[in-house]
Amino acid sequence: MKISIVGGGIAGCSTAYYLTQAGHDVTLFERDSLASHASGFALGGLIPSIGGPPDDPYGVLSRYSIELHRELAEQLTGHAGGRRGDGGGGNLDFLRKPSLMLVKDRAEEESMRRVYGQYAEDHTLDIRWLNFGEFSHIEARISSTVLGALYVSEAYEVDPYKLTLALWQAAEQQGARLVNRVVTAIAVNRDRVSGVVTKDGTTDADAVVVAAGPWSSEMLAGLGVSAPVTPLKGQIIRLDAPGPPPKVSLWWDHDYATAKADGLLWVGTTEEEVGFDDSTTDAARDRIISSAVEMLPYLEDAELVQQTACLRPVTPDGAPIIDAEAGPDGLVIVTGAGRQGIMLGPSMGIAAAALATGAEPPVDVSAFSLARFS
Ligand SMILES: Cc1cc2nc3c(=O)[nH]c(=O)nc-3n(C[C@H](O)[C@H](O)[C@H](O)COP(=O)(O)OP(=O)(O)OC[C@H]3O[C@@H](n4cnc5c(N)ncnc54)[C@H](O)[C@@H]3O)c2cc1C
Repeated sequence: MKISIVGGGIAGCSTAYYLTQAGHDVTLFERDSLASHASGFALGGLIPSIGGPPDDPYGVLSRYSIELHRELAEQLTGHAGGRRGDGGGGNLDFLRKPSLMLVKDRAEEESMRRVYGQYAEDHTLDIRWLNFGEFSHIEARISSTVLGALYVSEAYEVDPYKLTLALWQAAEQQGARLVNRVVTAIAVNRDRVSGVVTKDGTTDADAVVVAAGPWSSEMLAGLGVSAPVTPLKGQIIRLDAPGPPPKVSLWWDHDYATAKADGLLWVGTTEEEVGFDDSTTDAARDRIISSAVEMLPYLEDAELVQQTACLRPVTPDGAPIIDAEAGPDGLVIVTGAGRQGIMLGPSMGIAAAALATGAEPPVDVSAFSLARFS
């Protein structure tokens, strides 16, 4: 089949990858550069969704996606990925890195302990509740105001930019074409999509996948499809921090700190509803630094090296939209993964590829239809 994709972030590039693996003829339209928005600037933390019931669709999708990340690390680089701290996954910087979720107040402690209780009997997931003395052995520089921490062993990290690009390069090797143009409309003929419109004219397609991140709703509005996807700005600062890098990623409230392959400590983040403004701000920088210093006082002596900002595509319930029913036949929507778009990218891509070709997705995505918002 001839399939066009709008958007060269992780959602679009992973869809292109899985479509070309299945032998389809793919054209991807990107108006800027590949991975030049959220998919190029995210942290790249891949933390399984915990705390819900075992059959929770979001949890199932996230665990499946982490399996796909492990496979991709091997398929895209020829190296097995995911051994702890080994930089396995070759040039994607994919590695297993446990995470510590730090808790500062009693109410939070109680809810984290409840989550832990759910997993205490489940020996397939190594999740432990650690008190101050225990987590200090893992990272001694955490503030003594921290009451406890949930240790999640099966967590991973990847370089989202390298992953998105590698997915695209693999698709390109299988014949996919990149068109560096703004898509202005999706053409429809007799209730079926027929192509993608740019200033150069219409490129015919049997199916069109909209993977345009926070810009998806604007694109879909042209088809009369109302999709509640909005931009949520997030900022990250990169610090040159003294001493050895933490061996685990650290998470608290909406914030985090983790050492990345560039040798810097990446610290975030913000959640800002400011439309499509993706500029960095001093206010965000100051807030991120003060939150980080509160949890890791040694960062007072760190030096700011870089600050980035980008826009997450979010939906009202925080879950993605993976849908082939909402518009004309042949239209597939894959977006809205919010703070987890890198983690969910591969499962969203494999499911969107199946939907575009009329096949059954390998994971149940019925819970992620657009109709859930109506
Ligand atoms: C600070 C920050 C940290 C994050 N950290 C993590 C993390 O640790 N783990 C995690 O899982 N997720 C994380 N995320 C979330 C993740 O980055 C996003 O959910 C994900 O990148 C969204 O990917 P996407 O492909 O849907 O959208 P995008 O990456 O935004 O890609 C959409 C693309 O569509 C293109 N486009 C739009 N309209 C058109 C058009 N009309 N014509 C042609 N092209 C068009 C755009 O130019 C863009 O390149 C983070 C996000 C932020 C902001």
